[in-house]
Amino acid sequence: MPRLGVLGWPVAHSRSPAIHNAALAALGMAGWRYQRLPVPPALFEETTRALGAAGFLGANVTIPHKHAALALADDASRAAREIGAANTLTFAADGTIAAENTDAPGLIAALERLPELPAHPRALVLGAGGSARAVAWALREAGASDVAVWNRTAERARTLARELGVRAVPAPVPADLLVNCTSVGLHLPAGVERSATDGEALNQLGLTFDQVGEYSHVVDLVYRPGSTPLLAAAAAHGARTVDGLEVLVAQGALSLELWTGRSAPLEVMRRAAREQDQPAD
Ligand code: NAP
Repeated sequence: MPRLGVLGWPVAHSRSPAIHNAALAALGMAGWRYQRLPVPPALFEETTRALGAAGFLGANVTIPHKHAALALADDASRAAREIGAANTLTFAADGTIAAENTDAPGLIAALERLPELPAHPRALVLGAGGSARAVAWALREAGASDVAVWNRTAERARTLARELGVRAVPAPVPADLLVNCTSVGLHLPAGVERSATDGEALNQLGLTFDQVGEYSHVVDLVYRPGSTPLLAAAAAHGARTVDGLEVLVAQGALSLELWTGRSAPLEVMRRAAREQDQPAD
């Protein structure tokens, strides 16, 4: 029985199993299974090297293993090497492991939801962690006319900019496209009136509510039921938005296509991702 999975620590809340199992069922790939693979960092290499022999064809990789996944692979794509992280591993019959990064092309695929976006947009990336590296690289490769990176810790933005050939900025600058690659907005306190916390979250991104209105297209990699403070503010200003689930589905679709050679059923995957927001009966 061909197996797939997602390696992470923790990984209990990952929506990838629901998304991929729905896709496999829709493709009629009976017997294929996609499962959570909770693996602590100390056991990552040993466990991952054993997956091929255990019947796994591939695995997605999430926090905190994306760098380690690239390091252990026998072969890696240019995207994975230049970004410095892999989110997709493929286990070959001869025991070798190939690393790919579908976060980058996934972001570009998700931008198709913004048809009015200029072909060569000026982009502002917020954050300098793993996902910001993938997004900045992807936008540069896709021909963005400017890729500016702002981060709370300025030195990390400067390092990213130097390594990826984009530019670091000391404060958010005007752009056609704003992409939040920080975790701001992920952990909003429960039971607190949103309007009281949203302004604070925007400030952590170096923005006020009014400044968000200067961006006509906004993507937030963070996904949570309802909206995020950034997407709520952007929508209130009439901006076109893409949420983190759309990006998650897009990168997952590219991984699935790599492993199976089949076209991913995007609508099925979107529905499965969003069903997780519904309260259980
Ligand atoms: P990461 O490598 O840990 O980077 C975290 C980033 O968030 C850093 O730039 C950090 O800034 C910034 N940050 C954290 N707390 C902050 C705060 N209170 N104020 C301002 N900045 C803050 O994480 P990552 O892997 O890039 O992921 C970032 C987010 O994207 C996560 O929420 C993750 O779930 C989401 N994500 C979504 C997808 C998707 O497919 N939708 C894919 C990947 C990631 P400092 O450098 O100053 O610490």
